[in-house]
Amino acid sequence: MAVTVVKSVADVRKAVKAARAKGLNIGFVPTMGALHEGHASLVRHSTKECGYTVVSIYVNPTQFGAGEDFDKYPRTLDADTKLVDKAGGSLIFAPTDREMYPNYRGADGTWVDLVGLTKQLEGASRPHHFRGVTTVVTKLFNIVQPDKAYFGQKDFQQCRVIQRMAADLDMPLEVVMCQTVREANGLAMSSRNVYLNPEQRKQALCLSQTLTKARELYARGERNAEKISAAMRELIASHPLARIDYVEIVDHDTLASVAEINESSVAVLAVFVGTTRLIDNGYLK
Ligand code: AMP
Repeated sequence: MAVTVVKSVADVRKAVKAARAKGLNIGFVPTMGALHEGHASLVRHSTKECGYTVVSIYVNPTQFGAGEDFDKYPRTLDADTKLVDKAGGSLIFAPTDREMYPNYRGADGTWVDLVGLTKQLEGASRPHHFRGVTTVVTKLFNIVQPDKAYFGQKDFQQCRVIQRMAADLDMPLEVVMCQTVREANGLAMSSRNVYLNPEQRKQALCLSQTLTKARELYARGERNAEKISAAMRELIASHPLARIDYVEIVDHDTLASVAEINESSVAVLAVFVGTTRLIDNGYLK
């Protein structure tokens, strides 16, 4: 196997330094593991553009709220290692909590907290989520010091938050947004899909179907956001196992709801299917 797995910050720094000494540029794909084809596509995107690709696999406790799925989140390092290897990754960083947060004692540590973009949508449902994400991603950027970092459109708000944070803090890297990879039936791939039983899996298709519906309405000339989101809500409501958390049409820069749809509008949604919370999004044009 060509990929190397390391657990310490010191080992990442050593490997990255050696790669840089060979003249290679560094690509980085942060993940929480339980990897699937969506993650593989980010790794391949990186290996196309960068000579050395680092993948982090870390289920970051500070981005989970009380009662969320931190404890049951799938942890599958052996299978993940094979997938990263097949996709051409060079190094996996799989740290322990102690390695990532040696000084963490609750509230008295340093947080990276983006004020804008984080209170709505995912941030409304998961109040401290983005503070955990921006803090851990900053730490990972400082450890790996990549030239480019790859994030999925699947987590649209997360990617926009990271792009904004990197710009605000003059982080010397490019944050690349990569397309969402879907099952043949349209379901966005997600590590959380393993929680779904067969009937829930069928009903989970309502997320991508509402995006298709929204695009159809847009293509027919509808520009009223409320009309389109009402049609999306209606479609989801016809699935008895699905419960809407939010369905909105927002501007891709500000993430604020729009009244009139244009080329920068993105439909975003979070839906519980059974007890599993799934998200999806798509541009309407
Ligand atoms: P996660 O491990 O789920 O936190 O995701 C790690 C990265 O993979 C994030 O940038 C996600 O947006 C991205 N990702 C997750 N699912 C997909 C997908 N279906 N297609 C593309 N990227 C994805």
